[in-house]
Amino acid sequence: MANPSTFLVDHHHVLERVTNLFTMPGLPAAGVFCRDGPPSLLHFYNRDVFAEADAAASLPSPPPEPEPSSPSSPSSPTPPQRRNRIALSLYDLDGTLIRPKSGYKFPRGADDWMWWHRDVPKRLRADVAAGRHVIVLSNQNLHGRLLRDWKDKIRMIAHEIDDVPIRVFAALDRDKYRKPNIGMLEYVLRMYAERGWDVDLRKTFFVGDAAGRTGDHSSDDRNMAHNANLTFRTPEYHFNQPFPRAKTPDEIALAW
Ligand SMILES: [Mg+2]
Repeated sequence: MANPSTFLVDHHHVLERVTNLFTMPGLPAAGVFCRDGPPSLLHFYNRDVFAEADAAASLPSPPPEPEPSSPSSPSSPTPPQRRNRIALSLYDLDGTLIRPKSGYKFPRGADDWMWWHRDVPKRLRADVAAGRHVIVLSNQNLHGRLLRDWKDKIRMIAHEIDDVPIRVFAALDRDKYRKPNIGMLEYVLRMYAERGWDVDLRKTFFVGDAAGRTGDHSSDDRNMAHNANLTFRTPEYHFNQPFPRAKTPDEIALAW
């Protein structure tokens, strides 16, 4: 039987290919923007990690051990549903993962971007190899052509690191989703919960440049981390730390 989520993804990919024909032909692109969330919260992903994990879990496995017969114990109810557990690497976007390659403060087009630090792609791959999910939480003030350029830029970024499953959220309005509010993070946690995943917030961190330092444009990133009781790191600190050690799938499973 066809997996409904696989169908959904394929459907999105078809839509995406059609959409790209009308946006920026010629620019490399990957990933899809979801249309089923709140209008003020953009949601992009390049790979459906939930469907991939579900598919991996449904591989043939050894038969379950027979239950010991114990007449005194009451018949057990249905076994609890399997739940996955994951730590997240949360990143701000502008001034953290990327910056305009033109050198201007604001980008001049969809392709006006470069990695904030040359090790960003390696670092994101290391996060994944260490058994973490990479999620971007960004505030944006974009409409019309600027918003279309921004979406093209996100597709380009995803294309450049197409081996890294990445999800990008962007708060467009001054509402509960906008950092330093924690609505964007709560949306992410709810999405994970609905798909049967628990997020380990103790091992989750948030990296952002809006840290309230001299010269910073705001302290929204640091304050969001504080409001959500998350570990906060500046990009200057984070991208100069040693890479996390890669774990085997068994180690990742045993870590929980
Ligand atoms: Mg920033």
